[in-house]
Amino acid sequence: MYIKKTISDAAKIAVIGGGAAGMMAAAKAAELGAAVTLFERNDRMGKKLRITGKGRCNVTNNCSFDEFFANIPRNPRFLYAAYSNFSAADTISFFEDAGVPLKTERGNRVFPVSDKAADIVSALLKKCRENKCEIKNERVRHIIAENGIIQGIETSSRKYDFDTVILCTGGRSYPLTGSDGDGYRMARDLGHKITEIVPSLVPIVEDGHLCSAMQGLSLKNVKLSIINNISGKVIFNDFGELMFTHFGLTGPLVLSASAHMRDIEKGKYTAEIDLKSALDEKTLDARIISDFAKYNNKDFINSLDSLLPQKMIETVVSLSGIDARKKVNSITKAERKALVELLKHFRIPLLKFRPIDEAIITSGGVDVKEINPKTMESKLISGLYFAGEIIDVDAYTGGFNLQIAFSTAALAAENAAKSI
Ligand SMILES: Cc1cc2nc3c(=O)[nH]c(=O)nc-3n(C[C@H](O)[C@H](O)[C@H](O)COP(=O)(O)OP(=O)(O)OC[C@H]3O[C@@H](n4cnc5c(N)ncnc54)[C@H](O)[C@@H]3O)c2cc1C
Repeated sequence: MYIKKTISDAAKIAVIGGGAAGMMAAAKAAELGAAVTLFERNDRMGKKLRITGKGRCNVTNNCSFDEFFANIPRNPRFLYAAYSNFSAADTISFFEDAGVPLKTERGNRVFPVSDKAADIVSALLKKCRENKCEIKNERVRHIIAENGIIQGIETSSRKYDFDTVILCTGGRSYPLTGSDGDGYRMARDLGHKITEIVPSLVPIVEDGHLCSAMQGLSLKNVKLSIINNISGKVIFNDFGELMFTHFGLTGPLVLSASAHMRDIEKGKYTAEIDLKSALDEKTLDARIISDFAKYNNKDFINSLDSLLPQKMIETVVSLSGIDARKKVNSITKAERKALVELLKHFRIPLLKFRPIDEAIITSGGVDVKEINPKTMESKLISGLYFAGEIIDVDAYTGGFNLQIAFSTAALAAENAAKSI
């Protein structure tokens, strides 16, 4: 029978996964004196981190405590202790101390001044190396536990003894970065419940062909609302940028909206775009009257050039109910009113999400009921800790997901390092 091993001088910790959470956990635990080995399956560390924020890495969000939690739709309370222990301010100090100056942009989004995500990876690696953390490029296949106590791990090549494991293998989105859900299997093998895995911050497939007709068109400063057709309620409402594609909708606004629609199915949600959000209905009507006066003798289809992007005109005309060849000077007040209504409430029925491979994050993961929120330790296996996206917590866009990775990693590392 196994008994918990005791090591007199330092905790012997395996960190599995060299992503945002894993590198932070390894650096922090090693800084506290633990003997840390970081296992990463890829040859390169932080593959996903390198592509975050379109290669610029939105590393955190410099907002208030309340705002931070308002941006976490899933299990926010679970993160109170972790965020109180290591907040956005701590993330900023950590990277600035490591020699990466940061800047805050619109919406409190924090980026490296260099606009290079690679600088964030280098800083984390530098902290790991400074603190004498050993790095092994091996894929971990199993975590070994006996009688509810961690004994070690098994990689593709051999077994290693460890007192403590911090599991930071990420979610299941963008699997080519190495995060393909391996950690869920390892946690499940140890008895942990994995809640339903669904994509979040993901492009959305339309129910029909409206978007495909306008593919490639990007709209800035539009208002997007998502309507739940069953309750009639607006469940999301924001301004920003979106794009029409061959399958439906994408762009920052759409990705954010997707985080509110975990239960998407055919017929349930409609996207409503206000194409002229800067104009109220009366002002828009006046604008159309003035355009019609300018194009007095033209066909309706040739009168919208200054009102709409070229790629939208045909679709808008066909949805308006007005004959494309009708002369503008004979368009009735009722027809104009319907056009205003269409431009202010351009509706697209939604069908489903794109596959999880295309999602920015994975929603779902290790059930938070089985993790101690004050330490990040498993309630089932002594010496097993979790950090990052593998846990069933997720946030909207804006740097919140990386902050979750850093906060949970710091708390797990501190507790793992003192656990022996
Ligand atoms: C395109 C894109 C852009 C994003 N931009 C932002 C952004 O700007 N700001 C933000 O806050 N969030 C952003 N995110 C989300 C953010 O990247 C993740 O939430 C974050 O990386 C999660 O960190 P993690 O350490 O938990 O997992 P990951 O960063 O996914 O790291 C997990 C690591 O574990 C390794 N691994 C997996 N299985 C094994 C195994 N069996 N053995 C050894 N190693 C293993 C993987 O190779 C990987 O390196 C973005 C995500 C994507 C896909």
